[in-house]
Amino acid sequence: MILKVLSLFPGFVESFFSTSILAKAVEKRILSYENVNIRDYTTDKHRTCDDAPYGGGAGMVLKPEPLGAALAAVGADQFRTIYPTPGGRLFNQAYAEELSKEETLIFICGRYEGIDQRIIDLYVDDEISIGDYVLSSGELAAFVLIDAVFRLLPGVLSSESLEEESYKSGLLEYPQYTRPEVYQGLRVPEILLSGNHALIQQWRKEQSLCKTQRYRPDLLEKLKQEGKGYGFN
Ligand code: SAM
Repeated sequence: MILKVLSLFPGFVESFFSTSILAKAVEKRILSYENVNIRDYTTDKHRTCDDAPYGGGAGMVLKPEPLGAALAAVGADQFRTIYPTPGGRLFNQAYAEELSKEETLIFICGRYEGIDQRIIDLYVDDEISIGDYVLSSGELAAFVLIDAVFRLLPGVLSSESLEEESYKSGLLEYPQYTRPEVYQGLRVPEILLSGNHALIQQWRKEQSLCKTQRYRPDLLEKLKQEGKGYGFN
């Protein structure tokens, strides 16, 4: 997969791509990225990228010309182009799976009050919100989207670890434990030490269900409406 990230803070983007398993995926050539500085596409001597909104109001808006020129340079008309914005469709695991099938994705990182609507009209395929809150930076939102997508690419994680994750079955994942057996007086549930895989599976399913009931009853309702039962046999 090729990821092209357009931002006013290329140092921030670089630090993201050079960290942890994302850096390993780049090293293994599972993905490559282009870190595009929108400011490189300005034409005035102050390298201006923002301006006041028409109609008045607080804040600044990313100007269309430099951003449009950057988008044209990375071939936004040929590839799926994403603008992370609180005003977009809500992101979820199914959406991440859909995006992971693309060969190339372009991300526009907004700042200030956002970007000129005409850029959205001309270039953007998906406006995506990562949640019902407002961040100051489109970079962080783009990182969330990229992280959720790239880990689904073949060769990044084992298929087993993806299979059992939260949302895959429509439920939240069961609790995880590692050594030591007792930590600050709290014991690992006996069943996980039993070696009985059928019982462990059963316990995990029950825990998944309890956790989902507690934190996300809406997910159980959705499974019910879709006639899917509780996402496991
Ligand atoms: N004025 C905008 C509004 O009310 O919708 C908010 C702009 S926000 C301060 C600056 C940038 O952060 C946005 O252009 C967007 O790229 C990003 N952003 C903030 N919250 C986000 C969210 N929940 N999902 C996706 N992107 C977000």
